[in-house]
Amino acid sequence: MRIAVASGKGGTGKTTIATNLAYVAALAGGSVAYLDCDVEAPNGAIFLKPKIGEDNPVTTSVPKVDLDKCTGCGLCGEVCQFSAIVSMNKTVLTFPELCHGCAGCWLACPAGAIREDQQEIGRVQTGAAGQVRFLQGLLNIGQAMSSPLIRAVKTAAPQADLTIIDCPPGTSCPVIEAVRGSCYVLLVSEPTPFGLHDLSLAIETVRELGIPLGVVINRCDSGDARLRQYCDDNAIAVLAEIPDVRAVAEAYSRGMLAAELSGHYRQGFERLIEALRREVGR
Ligand code: SF4
Ligand code: SF4
Repeated sequence: MRIAVASGKGGTGKTTIATNLAYVAALAGGSVAYLDCDVEAPNGAIFLKPKIGEDNPVTTSVPKVDLDKCTGCGLCGEVCQFSAIVSMNKTVLTFPELCHGCAGCWLACPAGAIREDQQEIGRVQTGAAGQVRFLQGLLNIGQAMSSPLIRAVKTAAPQADLTIIDCPPGTSCPVIEAVRGSCYVLLVSEPTPFGLHDLSLAIETVRELGIPLGVVINRCDSGDARLRQYCDDNAIAVLAEIPDVRAVAEAYSRGMLAAELSGHYRQGFERLIEALRREVGR
């Protein structure tokens, strides 16, 4: 079972839910993998405290231009859909941070002046947090291309009975890359106007991908009832409603999981795992 934990916006408690699910599932037995695909700001490690074993660089393809061979025809700039290569006055400028590695420019160059080069965009670290197999992607500072790194994290993941993917926030390409291939998407939201707005965008995105989804309403006793009403009106399953509890927030600030605090919270996440199994089994 591969569950993506996502949210329309940051700060909803997505990582809190994802890490607690992984921790509690591992306590119950069976193999569990946690993939931190929030590669611009991975912080699952703060709570799961893994021992990192491997640390491998991830590279993507970028063009390398030999100006001695270049005739200044401009074809590379015309082919590139991402403005990552520009030809002007027999000078060719490249912008690797915009390059999608599509190979268009070096295949199109009639003078053979462009070859494929590699740039490091980040790292994939793998390890273990107790019984949880732990993986995280770390995007290099200044890098904009997180999707290839997310793909690398997912490729490096071991087979497991339960895989939890901690997705980036939002609804853009990195989220789609993280969610792709999951059997269910759990969207974590909060009952505020911003929460509702961004949840509705996230639901549209996941539905486009054809993946079943459900919602966790975090801090359910704050805000108003419109988000719950929206879910009911649109037949969206609400798998859990989690109140705002000071003791949990204090534990969070110390890097502790709610499930480590007491059996009460552990049982809450056990029920959420059961609800996910039922949803996936439908
Ligand atoms: S396509 Fe090749 S020859 Fe033409 S401008 Fe680009 S690098 Fe130069
Ligand atoms: S590899 Fe593709 S995206 Fe990158 S510069 Fe060449 S044409 Fe543009």
